[in-house]
Amino acid sequence: MSSIDLKATQAPHILVLGVGGTIAGIASEPDNNPLQYRAGQVGVEDLLKQVQAVIPSELKLVSVQLANIDSRNLSESLLTQIGNSIKASLDDIAVQGIVITHGTDTIEETGLFLQATCGKAAEKLGKRVVLTGAMLPSNAPGADGPNNLLGAIRWASTPLENCPGGVYAVFSGKVCMAKDLAKRHSTALNAPLMDSPASPIGLINPSWLFGVKAVEAVWSEDLPIPQEGEWPWVEILMSHAGARAETIAHWGGSGISGLVLAGTGMGGLHEAWKTPLVEVASKGIALIRTSRTGSGITDSDTPEKDLSGCMAAGSISAPRARIALQLALNAAKQANLVGKPLTWQDFFARIADLPEIR
Ligand code: ASP
Repeated sequence: MSSIDLKATQAPHILVLGVGGTIAGIASEPDNNPLQYRAGQVGVEDLLKQVQAVIPSELKLVSVQLANIDSRNLSESLLTQIGNSIKASLDDIAVQGIVITHGTDTIEETGLFLQATCGKAAEKLGKRVVLTGAMLPSNAPGADGPNNLLGAIRWASTPLENCPGGVYAVFSGKVCMAKDLAKRHSTALNAPLMDSPASPIGLINPSWLFGVKAVEAVWSEDLPIPQEGEWPWVEILMSHAGARAETIAHWGGSGISGLVLAGTGMGGLHEAWKTPLVEVASKGIALIRTSRTGSGITDSDTPEKDLSGCMAAGSISAPRARIALQLALNAAKQANLVGKPLTWQDFFARIADLPEIR
């Protein structure tokens, strides 16, 4: 294992990128209180040592520590670095597959980001990029990290006929596409997949496989990765009892590029927001409407006609919709610079309109 220069390793290998999270966490009193811990304390090389004994000796692993953070602090700059590393590694002929160890808090964002920016390249090159993490710190009794890491390495390295390259996630012995990954429980061991279609590793459900292929067929091309410091400013606002017009007016004057509105139920927005939202949209601020429920679909013109300039997020949650809108705004800007008259709505629709795997 090496944590230095990828280019130095010419032999075929699985690349394991460490980003941090609970999988690399340490609890000070693991037996008494395993949920009081610091994430991002153990290096990825040491995580691999925990599973080395059960990995076939002919499988070469190369580890690189990209960061070691609690993913609640995930930054847009780090997303850029992760994306660029994945792109470069996919192009490296020696890299057969990639595993990323990541905190579960924002793995949903990184999953959508990688799927939208690297998914097509992974598919074309026939390589699997696999996100994983853990709910218990590395020194807790019954820590789930080693098993998840092992599962991710297997998924990245096992040649499976008919299973396309792409961006996936593996947790608790199950696999899903990274775009479907969501943490829907604060503490449960299988929290990161609770809201996601999943299939046990090694027992690929043929209908699930069809879904993967359907998504990849619709996905026309990867979106560009925003450069560090060039991510558009987008915030998420939740509609709730007692919502105020002033909140929208405040953000309208902030210099923001877009707002993701997590509405109630099917994505309904409080009446008090309607007039200021029209004002905000007229200033060119991009608006996305999604649901605060955390699952299900937000369809356009449902439960009522959309405000002009406001787009429904389809099946993507508010945190994912925020990343998707940032990528869409950036992609439209890049396209316009080379004279292509594409809008952020064109790019956002490529992500939001993907078929669901159910
Ligand atoms: N706070 C941790 C993180 O996201 C939670 C986890 O990894 O499960 O880094």
